[in-house]
Order: sequence, then structure tokens, then C-alpha cells
Amino acid sequence: MPRTPALFVSHGSPMIAIEDDPWGHALRDFGSRLPRPRAAVVVSGHFEAPGPVRVTAAARPGTIHDFGGFPEELYRLRYPAPGDPELARRAVELLETAGIPAVPDSDRGFDHGAWVPLRFLFPDADVPVIEVSQPSDRSPRRMMEIGAALSSLRDEAVMVVGTGGVVHNLRRFDPGAGPDVSVAEWAKEFESWFVEKLDAMDVEALADYRRRAPHAALAVPTPEHFDPVFAVLGSAGPGERATTVYEGFRYGTISMRSFAVG
Ligand code: ZN
Repeated sequence: MPRTPALFVSHGSPMIAIEDDPWGHALRDFGSRLPRPRAAVVVSGHFEAPGPVRVTAAARPGTIHDFGGFPEELYRLRYPAPGDPELARRAVELLETAGIPAVPDSDRGFDHGAWVPLRFLFPDADVPVIEVSQPSDRSPRRMMEIGAALSSLRDEAVMVVGTGGVVHNLRRFDPGAGPDVSVAEWAKEFESWFVEKLDAMDVEALADYRRRAPHAALAVPTPEHFDPVFAVLGSAGPGERATTVYEGFRYGTISMRSFAVG
């Protein structure tokens, strides 16, 4: 069985769920060309929790509308993919074996960091999905360890998905400027650095982005949308490389860059 690629998705604004955006087309195209995975394990920028890593274990997870002030249409969307309690049990076991405390969470549904991209990747909602939380007390290294612990699942047709944003600064976000406003120089410079290191799979440099990358504090003002990158990189085996699935900015400061590792 060929190893299933890992995927990092920059998910942008929730509005993209109902927009006819080239990003959605790229994800749909990627999902349709892939041999259908048995399941997906998602690490989302919208699922952080203190204490042990939480692994969603509901058989029928709900859809969480964890955003405010958007059109009614967005709140009506549901993503009805099943959970996978048995896979959740395995993921907890793999994390614990790697020395990462983990517990199942039988209540939590899918946050929009997960369901917005999944609607495009697997529009029929026929791929079971579990989510793995980001511990509040974490580092890029810890996230790589989490990805490494889940890496063997990729040999069993399980896709590891990180969802967040490579450049994601909502404080600099100007919705009035429109989605296609020119990209801020600092955002371009940070992303160029990121792409250079990613192309070289220089995970040491990437993990040290706070010190080494230009404009890191502007591009990644808080780490929750960036850290899922490290779960994806941590799941990479020897010789695996990153390939671009989509690149582009919205609103001048929000990168939609998405890439596969395999
Ligand atoms: Zn988000």
C-alpha cells in the first residue's frame, strides 16, 4: 500500500467555505486525484487544549461554528463525516507510546479549521475524521513529536492534515480592502523564507522561525495557526518532500499556501 501524503492547508477566512475561490478548486482537485484515504487525522489551529493531547472519539461528531459575525448561510453548513473511535484509540496509544500524554474526547465535533478544508477535499464527507488537539503548553518541537507519533498511520492509508495559516495576522487584516489587495512586503518576505526552507525540508530552521525568519512576529503573531505545519513536517519520513497544492494571498496579509508532504 503506498504511503498516504500529509497535507498542510492554510484555511483563511471562514467565508471561503461559501465562496467560489481557486483555493477550494485546488483542494478539490487534490482530493479527487488522491487514492481515497481510509481516514484523516486533523491538527487544527482552532483546537488547543491544556493538559494531555485530546483525540476526538465521537462516532458522529457535530459541526462547530466557532466564529462570529458571519452570514447565516455559513452557520447552516454541516460537515457530516463520521468519526472513527477505533482510530482515535490507536492515535491515543501511539501518542502515549511516544511519551506524549493523550486522552480520547468523546464529545467534541469538528471546528471550522477542519471542516472548511474538508468540505473541498472530501466533498462527499465519506472519509472518517478524527482531530488531535494542540497542547496549550507546546513548541514547534513538541508538534513535530506529535506528527512523528502519528506518522505510521500514513502507511495505513490515513491522511495527516494540518490546518492553519503560513501567514495569518488578523490584526493587520483589512476586509474593506477586498480579497485581492496587493500583498504586504513583510508577508511576502516571511513566506519566501518559509518556502525556501520548506523546499529544502530544513525543519531545524523552520522550527527556529521565531529567531531566524524575517518579520516572524508580524507573520505569526500567535502560533496556533502556524504550529500545525510542524505536525505535518513531523510526520514526514526520510526523503519525503513538500509540493505546493495552492499558493496565494487574500486581503494582503493572509496566506492561503497549502502543501502536501510525501
Ligand atoms: Zn483559522
